[in-house]
Amino acid sequence: MLKIDNLAVSYGMIQAVHGVSFAVKPGEIVSLIGANGAGKTTILRTISGLIRPKQGQILFEDQDITKTAPQKIVASGLSQVPEGRHVFPGLSVMENLEMGAYLRKGEFKADYEQVFQKFPVLKERKNQDAATLSGGEQQMLAMGRALMSKPKLLLLDEPSMGLAPIFIKEIFSIIQEINAQGTTVLLIEQNAKMALSVAHRGYVLETGKIVLSGTGAELLDSEEVKKAYLGG
Ligand code: ATP
Repeated sequence: MLKIDNLAVSYGMIQAVHGVSFAVKPGEIVSLIGANGAGKTTILRTISGLIRPKQGQILFEDQDITKTAPQKIVASGLSQVPEGRHVFPGLSVMENLEMGAYLRKGEFKADYEQVFQKFPVLKERKNQDAATLSGGEQQMLAMGRALMSKPKLLLLDEPSMGLAPIFIKEIFSIIQEINAQGTTVLLIEQNAKMALSVAHRGYVLETGKIVLSGTGAELLDSEEVKKAYLGG
């Protein structure tokens, strides 16, 4: 579904991503893990078309999207939930969800209910400003907003960031539910344990390079991953 080939990305003189290649197959959850500054967000933003690579190719469903505009990428079925959620604070929960359907043609009202089924708390708070939601609720809203675009592939940037353990568990169980219902997921995380427990496959990124790959279970069991990311 998604194929990244030899991707290199720089910010001026600083090269953040060095020749990264990986793939996501339809129906998978793939996790990309790595420490602060490893290049995870840069890769995700490059896939979404927000940053242009200096080298490499990105194929989504066999189409080359390396130079495609971000809104066209969203319309083709690839949606990103950014790090730090970035909900629209002065808009209500409903209005935030509506923004997610902005690029869709036709009727989408029924999709609110699908989002509310996954995130009942959003229904309770549907007329509240997004700014008044807790961090976990904002993460749910950002995910709900992305789902309103009916993505085939959902990109999640650090969904666990800043959340209490109980919320992290809930968010990851909803990610699995979304996947089970047919959405392919590419997830980037510092929380290696959670990210690899839900992943079919994973990749480990260090200073802009992929250094390990395997199934989620293989990586959780790997000595290198245990030592570097799972606290021994
Ligand atoms: P984190 O988990 O902390 O978000 P990350 O793995 O997502 O880290 P990136 O944010 O992709 O890493 O950053 C990769 C490298 O690129 C880092 O060295 C970072 O300092 C650098 N970088 C990121 N954004 C910019 C920018 N706008 N300008 C210059 N350098 C940047």
